Amino acid sequence: NQPLHELDPDVAAAVDAELNRQQSTLEMIASENFAPVAVMEAQGSVLTNKYAEGYPGRRYYGGCEHVDVVERIAIERIKELFGAEHANVQPHSGAQANAAAMFALLKPGDTIMGLNLAHGGHLTHGMKINFSGKLYNVVAYHVDDATGQVDMAEVEKLAQESRPKLIVAGWSAYPRQLDFAAFRRIADEVGAYLMVDMAHFAGLVAAGLHPNPVPHAHVVTTTTHKTLGGPRGGVILSTADLAKKINSAVFPGQQGGPLEHVIAAKAVSFKVAASEEFKERQRRTLEGARILAERLMRDDVTSAGVSVLSGGTDVHLVLVDLRHSELDGQQAEDRLHEVGITVNRNAVPNDPRPPMVTSGLRIGTPALATRGFTAEDFAEVADIIAEALKPAYDAESLKARVSALADKHPLYAGLK
Ligand code: PLP
Repeated sequence: NQPLHELDPDVAAAVDAELNRQQSTLEMIASENFAPVAVMEAQGSVLTNKYAEGYPGRRYYGGCEHVDVVERIAIERIKELFGAEHANVQPHSGAQANAAAMFALLKPGDTIMGLNLAHGGHLTHGMKINFSGKLYNVVAYHVDDATGQVDMAEVEKLAQESRPKLIVAGWSAYPRQLDFAAFRRIADEVGAYLMVDMAHFAGLVAAGLHPNPVPHAHVVTTTTHKTLGGPRGGVILSTADLAKKINSAVFPGQQGGPLEHVIAAKAVSFKVAASEEFKERQRRTLEGARILAERLMRDDVTSAGVSVLSGGTDVHLVLVDLRHSELDGQQAEDRLHEVGITVNRNAVPNDPRPPMVTSGLRIGTPALATRGFTAEDFAEVADIIAEALKPAYDAESLKARVSALADKHPLYAGLK
């Protein structure tokens, strides 16, 4: 029972280096966050040793009395958080949650509708070489060129024409809120299930700062590690009548033994997500994104060909449009990396550049809000980003400003 540093110094060194990277740079990947130490403690617990195929009270292994307690707590907490009738907390990831939900509701060859990947959808919403694009007949909808927002008239037209069995509403890169009631009306018109993938905005919903899709959808999937701020993993919420189908699609349909240590960590994060402190953090997340969008739309920035898709944001991220900038997405990502800010390049709708290069950046505020950033700090981050995206930039002075912000908000101070 040697500690990691003794048993495996090579892996320990890489873990230490990653801790240092997280502490000393500014994390602005929209899908990332910093899990609380208590969440990581639960995830690193002895629950990792336990096999528990099945569900609480109905397991295929002995000795499940304690993991049953944990899994029941997780289920009850997330049902309460989102007002759901049923919850399955076993999916290992968001992609597996989506696979299981589709497996529960569809047969191979059925038609599904989802937001096109290049317009902000996720791989699992019907991308060609993902399981969803291979198993199902995919009809993709898009954002409107002029507004940058999902074109509900197109959604309705495509649904009427293709009569899908399932409509997926949700996104990985979209700065606005979806109209869940309109999606449900269209789904009902054509006899489709409505599945909302709220992976990105679940934390905002939990805080009451974003419409809740649960009352509108047959099934809602989410990850637990984005705005929700928990361990990496997935969850499926559904109406009570679909509970049996969903559960058997997860196990034995898609997975074997559940990761009870991760489920324990999910339970802890759901407790945190019900707190006042969490609401306050989500408020700062939204405020930070709004400040970022505003400052990237100032004349001195737009004159360098940088703009913001849809003209702002209602959520935790901003999509920067570089179609008219000399910098492409890759170069912009590299520049920000050079000054100590981590983001990811992202295709914009009708992107003229190839997918590995792109003409956009996706910049999110959840991780910095968790770190304690205030409106004033976000204004400073926004100005650093704006300066870094101009043709002439002073990397050394921007690096120093990033370091000052990182020092002002220490992260995981107790860990090392
Ligand atoms: N759904 C959406 C909307 C996502 O953005 C993502 C991940 O980025 C996923 C699902 C997949 O989650 P995971 O990476 O845990 O499989």
